[in-house]
Order: sequence, then C-alpha cells, then structure tokens
Amino acid sequence: MSSTTGKCLCGQISVSVSKEVLSATDNITLCHCKNCRQSGGALASVSVIAPESTVKISGVPKIYQDVNTDSGKPLERAFCGNCGSPIYTASPNVPGIQVIKLGLFDEIPKPGMESYCKARPPWDKPVDNAKQFNTMPTK
Ligand SMILES: [Zn+2]
Ligand SMILES: [Zn+2]
Repeated sequence: MSSTTGKCLCGQISVSVSKEVLSATDNITLCHCKNCRQSGGALASVSVIAPESTVKISGVPKIYQDVNTDSGKPLERAFCGNCGSPIYTASPNVPGIQVIKLGLFDEIPKPGMESYCKARPPWDKPVDNAKQFNTMPTK
C-alpha cells in the first residue's frame, strides 16, 4: 500500500498515511471548533480521517486528554512533546479511527467537509463544494 509521510516541526515524530485514504475527498475535513483552534493555535484544523490500520506513526507522541468537549466524552489529542506540533486526535466514540493533522504534510488535499462551521469567523469563507456541518457529523 503506497503512502505519504509527514512529520512534526522538529522531526521526532513522523506519520505515514495511505494515499488511498488521502485521495478520498470525504476523508478530508476542516474543523472550526474552538478546541481545535486552541490546540493548534490556528484558524482551523485540517485533518484526514483514517482507519488506524492505514496509519503508521514513528516516535511517541504525548497524549492530552481533552475533556472539555461538545459530546462530553474525552478526546485524545496527540502532540509532539518536543516541538508541540499536533499529530492526531482520537475518540473512544469511534474506536480504530485516527484523525491525522494534515499540517504535518507537504501537500494538503482539498477538504470535502467542514465541521463546527458555526464557530467560523464571519470573514472566513467556506471551501467550494465542501459539505458544511455545524457540529461534528457522525460517520
Ligand atoms: Zn516535534
Ligand atoms: Zn475541532
């Protein structure tokens, strides 16, 4: 299975994701929720929703248990303990899935959906043809 590799800012952690998973537009998501903004220090987080079996992580990320979530269920936010780059999020609600941060990669595929659009600042525009959700859609 051919894959693409991204890495954190310092390079201690690298992540490979299957190209097949990356090529499906519906797997690429932009999240505007405040937790994603705060954890990434960014306008939004752009990620690929990937089955764990299609992901290979080298290095050991630190895990922050994000308990202040919309669903009330804690979310695991993995990040590099050295440089702080967000690596992935995972939820006990959806076992076997890792939501990999695409900011780590050289190329970022166009998102097919956006979640928590209600939190998008008024001056920021939706991505053309991306499905819009005001919370996190359940797959
Ligand atoms: Zn790092
Ligand atoms: Zn989010």
